Amino acid sequence: MKTIAVIGAGITGVTTAYALARRGFTVTLFEKHRYPAMETSFANGGQLSASNAEVWTHWSTLVKGLKWMLKSDAPLLVNPRPSWHKLSWFAEFIASIPHYRQNTIETARLAVAAREHLFAWAAAEGIGFDLRKEGILHIYRDRRGFEHAGEVSKLLAAGGLPRRAVTPQEMRAIEPTLAGDYYGGYYTESDSTGDIHKFTNGLAAAAERLGVRCRYGSEIESVDSDGKVATVTLSGPAGSEVHRFDGLVVCAGVASRELARQLGDRVNIYPVKGYSITVNLLDAQSQRCAPTVSLLDDETKLVTSRLGVDRFRVAGTAEFNGCNRDIRADRIRPLVDWVNQCFPGVSTRQVVPWAGLRPMMPNMMPRVGRGQRSNVFYNTGHGHLGWTLSAVTADMVAGVVGQACGMPVRVAGLAALGGIPA
Ligand SMILES: Cc1cc2nc3c(=O)[nH]c(=O)nc-3n(C[C@H](O)[C@H](O)[C@H](O)COP(=O)(O)OP(=O)(O)OC[C@H]3O[C@@H](n4cnc5c(N)ncnc54)[C@H](O)[C@@H]3O)c2cc1C
Repeated sequence: MKTIAVIGAGITGVTTAYALARRGFTVTLFEKHRYPAMETSFANGGQLSASNAEVWTHWSTLVKGLKWMLKSDAPLLVNPRPSWHKLSWFAEFIASIPHYRQNTIETARLAVAAREHLFAWAAAEGIGFDLRKEGILHIYRDRRGFEHAGEVSKLLAAGGLPRRAVTPQEMRAIEPTLAGDYYGGYYTESDSTGDIHKFTNGLAAAAERLGVRCRYGSEIESVDSDGKVATVTLSGPAGSEVHRFDGLVVCAGVASRELARQLGDRVNIYPVKGYSITVNLLDAQSQRCAPTVSLLDDETKLVTSRLGVDRFRVAGTAEFNGCNRDIRADRIRPLVDWVNQCFPGVSTRQVVPWAGLRPMMPNMMPRVGRGQRSNVFYNTGHGHLGWTLSAVTADMVAGVVGQACGMPVRVAGLAALGGIPA
């Protein structure tokens, strides 16, 4: 197996193409947009957050979801109109609750391992992406939230991630710009933030330098494989174009489910919508009054990152409403209000809203590894942590492709990620 097609040039596809090219494969990367990272990898929360490895498959998520059902500004919203996709996804979500601990520990382990690859690639390729290594501070307004975080910390520690509890006074010392009263916090010094769109574009250029053929503006109409030859059919103005490869890796975000279906696999990704605002810090006071340490507010489920001197990104909310990318004013408003409350010195005069669809598996674990057909592979379904995890899962899937070609590579941890071991 020498020639590999990678479908999708978001963070998962670009990291996969790059990792494969470094292993000597001849890679073609297909992307329907004219540039990489134009969908979910465009304007996310920016957190490289091993400390956010807790999976959502917990009874408390369901209880909160039901409570928030009728509140339009709630962090979690479910459109009650049933669909087979939504029902099957929630049934599998509930079935995964017993694996909450194990999946949180595994996600933390992966997130810690991902850092090594991401930072090494950025340094080797000279990619600037507003990386800020100032840690992530989780903030809690009440005792219950803080105590639950204490339990989560034990799981993170089991996954290799230490973090420490901090008092409100210590929180102020860590991030002096944060206003308000808090019960306490947890600080993870080793976490960081950066601009996913800049990184993905930088790595795509690096992949091209390594010989990856980037076919932007190429929408895949259908895929097929007989186990030996993988076929990719493109739709173009001049009609359909068919390309053949030795293997195929699906990294198509929320479109991966349909492509997997065509390849005889079930990858039950649901599009979980989230929103972000990028506050342009236009004046010296706003730049001074915006935080540089990244925050995660557990009650409102908002995350933040400071991108360079003049951008402050705030992201969050989870909306189960199918493949709907509308940017709703009533979902953006709470993000702006939160900035006004927590950072009163920051001007919110110029705010850029955005919505993206998290490709979420019901067990919250990415699908990484082989499909039923021996030359079909997946690196997709990273949900709320694609930026944090992609570098390691790309390396893992490239290892599996290598193994399938007889390269002696050991790939650990795949069983938990739904991949069929090579
Ligand atoms: C509001 C929000 C905040 C977030 N915050 C964070 C965070 O702080 N930290 C973190 O780690 N993660 C975060 N995430 C999650 C992270 O952004 C995603 O997990 C990640 O971007 C998904 O990358 P992807 O490559 O799987 O999908 P995408 O980036 O969507 O890439 C898939 C690509 O496939 C292409 N494609 C699809 N179908 C076809 C086709 N038929 N033909 C050709 N191309 C095709 C698409 O055009 C797209 O470019 C956040 C997500 C959201 C929505």
